[in-house]
Amino acid sequence: MRKLKELNGFSLGKKLTIAIDIDGTIADSSGVDFRRVSRKPDEILKAKPIKGALKAVKRLYKEGHTIVFYTCRNYASKLMTMKWLKKHGFPFHHLEMKKFVAHVYIDDRAINGCSWKRIKESLETLSILIGTVT
Ligand SMILES: [Mg+2]
Repeated sequence: MRKLKELNGFSLGKKLTIAIDIDGTIADSSGVDFRRVSRKPDEILKAKPIKGALKAVKRLYKEGHTIVFYTCRNYASKLMTMKWLKKHGFPFHHLEMKKFVAHVYIDDRAINGCSWKRIKESLETLSILIGTVT
């Protein structure tokens, strides 16, 4: 099988920068009242981890990929968002409060939606193509 040398317009090494959305992707934020967050930042802690997300993110982190969570939440909620990630054990390298350049995006608002089972299968295929797994 021919290995990929670039993806989304930039060159690949053996490891990827994987951008992962928070709300609706790793966090069920349906119980969070975002109108209250600026006055009561710990409102964010009401979010619940989405089934399958933690296991998948831990695996990607362990494989050596750079994990960057991103969110369009208010910048003032950055510290509380980090607290939530740590509270639930999500390993990561960075937290961005905006979208940025990455090899791969995992986002519930993408046209394909978000299914952690399908994401796992897609990333396994990608790992084979870039030569992480042979
Ligand atoms: Mg989202």
